[in-house]
Amino acid sequence: MSEPKVAIVTGAASGIGRASAVHYAQRNICTVIGTFSGDPHDPEETLRLVREAGGQAVIHEVDVRNTPSVDAFAQRAIDEFGRLDFAVANAGILRNAALADLSDERWTDMLDVDLTGVLRTLRAGARHMGEGAAMVAISSIAGGVYGWEEHAHYAAAKAGVLGLVRSVAVELGPRHIRVNAVIPGLIETPQSLDPVNSLGPEGLKQAGKDIPWGRVGRPEEVASVIGFLTSADAGYLTGQALVVDGGLTVKMRA
Ligand code: NAD
Repeated sequence: MSEPKVAIVTGAASGIGRASAVHYAQRNICTVIGTFSGDPHDPEETLRLVREAGGQAVIHEVDVRNTPSVDAFAQRAIDEFGRLDFAVANAGILRNAALADLSDERWTDMLDVDLTGVLRTLRAGARHMGEGAAMVAISSIAGGVYGWEEHAHYAAAKAGVLGLVRSVAVELGPRHIRVNAVIPGLIETPQSLDPVNSLGPEGLKQAGKDIPWGRVGRPEEVASVIGFLTSADAGYLTGQALVVDGGLTVKMRA
């Protein structure tokens, strides 16, 4: 049997990142679970779910705002499992700020995580990767498709992710390393359940009624697309962005 493949996933103590680690475990892919101590999420729960699925993983503390921290995160895959095949640049934050309150500091803090954090993850991952490897970065319908009032910094970062992915895909094409983006719609996770910076539980329920699928998405419904994009089934697919939104953005409105 061939050696198991290995993935790094940032922000894997919750939401879409956790679901990605579980998805990989179900496919015999080992994961380095990126966790961030600034948040209250429980990486042990991700590890428990991975083991329940019969997979292998290790937890590693990583702050995507810090280059040495991200480099050490990618290196952990090599130290622990001897290889690195997939990287999922998933970590992100969402804050709201009206334009008048969008200080340089708030702008910079957002881009440091949601855009430069993605660059740091792709750059560190590519360093250890060979032919057949693949990376996915998480954008958003906010920025990737729509505008969103009071979220210009988030939308700018998420739009930036798309340009970053396209360019890195072109650059890594000759090495046969693929790079794609996922553009999630409304997915029920700690981020979207935050009623201050996002829609909150009630807002999600209401929004779900307007989605052709009739509800908001589940983290595992994004994770399976991430898994597809890094799998050999997507072996000639690079530089693209897939919208995973239950039809939200293609619905015509009067
Ligand atoms: P989430 O809040 O559960 O996940 C985000 C993760 O990023 C958390 O585990 C958090 O600890 C981690 N993180 C935050 N700052 C970090 C840092 N500096 N270094 C390392 N990790 C850090 O929410 P989620 O919805 O699962 O978010 C995953 C990705 O999906 C994010 O990039 C988010 O912007 C994107 N997204 C989510 C939705 C949605 O509706 N939930 C929609 C579009 C895009």
